[in-house]
Amino acid sequence: MSVVTILGSANAVPKIGQDNTHLLIQANHKTVMVDCGDNPVAKLAAAGSHINQVNDLILTHFHADHMGSLPLLIMDMWLEKRESPLTIHGLEITLSKARSLLEVFNWQDWKGMFPVNFNVIPDAGHEGFILDEDLAISTLMVQHLVPTIGLRIEIMGKKVIAYSCDTEPCENVLKLASQADVLLQEAAGEGKGHTSPAQAGWLATRAGVKKLVLIHYDSRIDEERLLADARSEFTGEVVLAKDMMLV
Ligand SMILES: [Zn+2]
Repeated sequence: MSVVTILGSANAVPKIGQDNTHLLIQANHKTVMVDCGDNPVAKLAAAGSHINQVNDLILTHFHADHMGSLPLLIMDMWLEKRESPLTIHGLEITLSKARSLLEVFNWQDWKGMFPVNFNVIPDAGHEGFILDEDLAISTLMVQHLVPTIGLRIEIMGKKVIAYSCDTEPCENVLKLASQADVLLQEAAGEGKGHTSPAQAGWLATRAGVKKLVLIHYDSRIDEERLLADARSEFTGEVVLAKDMMLV
């Protein structure tokens, strides 16, 4: 069984029922979380998981809505008596910021602290940096305001899901999403470091994906308008991501 659950779908400002964008990937032998802007404990429980089942945490970039809750996540894992190691993946700058964030809380002094490994993802990208019998996750740098990675999640023999993360339209999003079943594309709006719904549609067409899911969008804008803008550039299926949606 491999499932991708959208734990949060909001842009940087969350609202009732819509947390900051973060994802859960559940494969046969691995549970992977992508980002943690909000405390994910309750959301993981709702997805039938537990924080201490998470083996790997991918941090896409060092913005607060993507990793602001890291110290609380690690503390909750420790309070829940975690023993198994956690691997945190990210670019060098992202992991250095993550360590600084944890050091604010003297995490090295927590009694009986579980092992945390940091895996540096090279700027050039890393194919299959998370690899298991039914899951392969690869990254490439995308174009945001700070160094950021996008993801290609391959669920063996079943599905390919690309997650743009925060980015403006760029060649690497097209590479990550090439012929994917689903493109999970940020649609925060046109401007530096971000993508509009229409541009998301354009990317989906260019990458040849089957389905486009808009995420990290401005929920003050009418939903039908967001969808119509994306559909003006893409004739495949388009939906808006919602919290707890299965991809
Ligand atoms: Zn960001």
